[in-house]
Amino acid sequence: MATVTLEGVRKIYPDRGQPYVAVHQLDLAVADGEFVVLVGPSGCGKSTTLRMIAGLESITEGTLRIGDRVVNDVPARDRDIAMVFQNYALYPHMTVYQNLAFALTLRKQPKGEIERRVKEAAELLGLGDLLDRRPRQLSGGQRQRVALGRAIVRHPQVFLFDEPLSNLDAKLRVQMRREIAALRRRLGTTTVYVTHDQVEAMTLGDRIVVMKDGRVLQVDRPSVIYQRPADTFVATFIGSPPMNLIPGGATVDGFESERGDFRLPVRPPAQAQPPLTLGIRPEALQLGPTGTGTSAEVQLVEPLGSETLVTLAAGTTTLVARVEGTAAWTIGHRVGLSVEPGQVHWFGADGRRSDGRTV
Ligand code: ADP
Repeated sequence: MATVTLEGVRKIYPDRGQPYVAVHQLDLAVADGEFVVLVGPSGCGKSTTLRMIAGLESITEGTLRIGDRVVNDVPARDRDIAMVFQNYALYPHMTVYQNLAFALTLRKQPKGEIERRVKEAAELLGLGDLLDRRPRQLSGGQRQRVALGRAIVRHPQVFLFDEPLSNLDAKLRVQMRREIAALRRRLGTTTVYVTHDQVEAMTLGDRIVVMKDGRVLQVDRPSVIYQRPADTFVATFIGSPPMNLIPGGATVDGFESERGDFRLPVRPPAQAQPPLTLGIRPEALQLGPTGTGTSAEVQLVEPLGSETLVTLAAGTTTLVARVEGTAAWTIGHRVGLSVEPGQVHWFGADGRRSDGRTV
């Protein structure tokens, strides 16, 4: 196992008409045995970052270390990493055994050692009975397991995953996600995992790196990213449905939306610079009978069984609340809205968290 350290890493693609900065100034230290997830929308630079770690893409500037060794100029095959791709690209004419053994055969490992490692990986992944099959005789999930097995047999210092589950259907994706989590607990290998799926990021990562436009917005444990998002982008990217964001300002007794059609008795922190944005997670919004306080009209009710999503309109301000599954709210009715003061988030004019509690 090993650490992975990026210091001031930049990637400029020179061949796009004019030079294009895909990754700005990336600093990241992945600890030995840690599972770090790079997440962000398409084009944010996460695959480029992973490919630089893998040695599949050159590093324009900065330093990359695996363990204590600077590997900027070390070829991919000598970095002691194993990568699992979205497109698992198994050799169709080879059996599962041969697919698993391939990288080791290429490296001229002794036959007994190859057999031991293939058996061990097959055992870990539940592929023991399938070793004689060819890829076309396997289900999508089994193929993805073989792809994982090809990485595992190499006993690398670092695993790199590039959207490994995005080709699978929804149900299989959940199952494989759990298998990766279980595998990771058993193997404990340092891992960098790229995905655009915030659920994968939240469930798999020891830490999450949220990226946008080639820059890192926040690096932290999943619970901190959710409870203390560093800015409005992270606040809406992580969590589904996303956090409600309401631009506005302070009044004598609380907050008022920009258009003046929504008020709440929650006070922004003294240091928050206007214009402000108030953030409320859907589960923090409490619905009740209308009274003297804030009210809104129910626009949409989406019962999901265990919970119900209620879309509300307070003038032109739209909000989504997540309430119990048994709650019965009627479209067109008015409801009272409240929120615990400790449950709100504040963002300043620059979109950054401004309650002074960013960690
Ligand atoms: P992500 O994985 O987050 O979707 P990428 O790292 O693949 O994003 O890409 C980041 C940006 O760099 C995108 O704008 C993409 O178009 C650009 N890019 C990626 N690869 C190349 C390349 N080989 N040449 C030029 N531009 C590239």
